[in-house]
Amino acid sequence: MSQLQIYDSHQGALKTFTPLKEGHAGLYVCGPTVYSHVHLGNVRTFLSFDMVFRYLQFLGYKVRYVRNITDAGHLIDDADEGEDKVGRRAKLEQVEPMEIAQRYTVNFHDVMRAFNTLPPSIEPTATGHIVEQISMTQQLLENGWAYEANGSIYFDVDAYSKVHPYGELSGRNLDEMRSGTRELDGQTDKRSPIDFALWKKASEAHIMRWASPWGEGFPGWHLECSAMSTKYLGTSFDIHGGGMDLKFPHHECEIAQNKGANQDGGAQVWMHANMLTLNGKRMSKSTGNTLLPDELLSGDSPHLSKAYPASVARFFIHQAHYRSVLDFSDEALQAAEKGYQRLIHAWKALSERPGEGPSKGSFDVDHWQAQCVAAMNNDFNSPILIAHLFDAVKAIQADQQDRSLLGQSGAKVLLQHLNAWIFDVLGLQDQMRHAHAGSQKALDAAMGIVLQARKQARDQKDWSTSDAIRDQLAAGGIQVKDGTDGSTYTIGE
Ligand SMILES: [Zn+2]
Repeated sequence: MSQLQIYDSHQGALKTFTPLKEGHAGLYVCGPTVYSHVHLGNVRTFLSFDMVFRYLQFLGYKVRYVRNITDAGHLIDDADEGEDKVGRRAKLEQVEPMEIAQRYTVNFHDVMRAFNTLPPSIEPTATGHIVEQISMTQQLLENGWAYEANGSIYFDVDAYSKVHPYGELSGRNLDEMRSGTRELDGQTDKRSPIDFALWKKASEAHIMRWASPWGEGFPGWHLECSAMSTKYLGTSFDIHGGGMDLKFPHHECEIAQNKGANQDGGAQVWMHANMLTLNGKRMSKSTGNTLLPDELLSGDSPHLSKAYPASVARFFIHQAHYRSVLDFSDEALQAAEKGYQRLIHAWKALSERPGEGPSKGSFDVDHWQAQCVAAMNNDFNSPILIAHLFDAVKAIQADQQDRSLLGQSGAKVLLQHLNAWIFDVLGLQDQMRHAHAGSQKALDAAMGIVLQARKQARDQKDWSTSDAIRDQLAAGGIQVKDGTDGSTYTIGE
């Protein structure tokens, strides 16, 4: 069997996955900053890593999946200036910052549940790990990679970069970074504009603050992920993931902090999920080109013609490779919905297949399964996996005409594999069944009245009325069959 290969963003190449501890896998993923609702682009990132988590488990690894909640330290401006995002929201609404963090953490969990993501093994918060962040800052000071200035502690990028490469992950050199940063305006205590904050002194107005050896302050945004990944996964661990937009500065700074404090860069493999655009453009709240998960599920958005089940969106997202940009549109979702329905229909037909035909069929289930595994082992290539799932759909349909195609044991094994791929690995749910149960009951009631009216017409030998009812139903895709016990109906051609 092929081995799992993962594209490492750090080296820019596929790497064979060799876990540090046999049979185990450690996965760290940067979670949300809980100051507003997550948009669908964020959801894509978390679905991508949910699939990674699921597939590692499918392969038999015991996975420790750590995904943090950022509830302090993330400032409006990435360059260590401005207010805390959570704190600002709290001020605007005149509530405690923790009320904001609580509200949007609960909302995030609701969204994750709606999309059927598995909860991580550990979900640590920044505010719950102030002690660890202070001690990592002390370690960096001791090791000579940080300096104190007026109650704040900054990471000394110039000193660090003389010994370790800085900018390798994002492919930037120091000069580019310097020219990309605003000139120091005298307001800051940084020695160099590319230095970043490990700990910031809290101004009078800053409400989220903790005591530290350097006075009251708060941790820099990048520090929490270094501190929490070290605490729960060790100084060296298998995989670190996040959205592409976090490569710089966030992940670059994480590597520097880990190396500076632990003499180890942390993750063996860096994975970055690409972004989701909406109608060909970047999602942005300010331009209105944005979509929230709730709007998708309710259809309440100018970008949508109708509501979509979460599994359809999930199917759509996994139809693209996690490293490709994916464009979301109403038409694309409609197409995905058709594909999802075909897949679930075929799965359902297979699960209800009568025990007919020879034991072994002509469809080579083992070969097909090996192709599915090979696709996922090639850097979690879910679009290729889904293409193979549709090969199975075709086989299931052909088998309905000729039971020697799958055969009895072939059908059984295929169903087990499909259950694993569709529900365990891709995390889809049969959301048609629930939608059908209610509408089927309503349709049965309405059709009962229509068929009764037609029966009365037939009893009175009013053939033109009974034929007109039958023809009009047929035009709407409903076929009426007259039997000895009365009339029944089926939907479809
Ligand atoms: Zn992070």
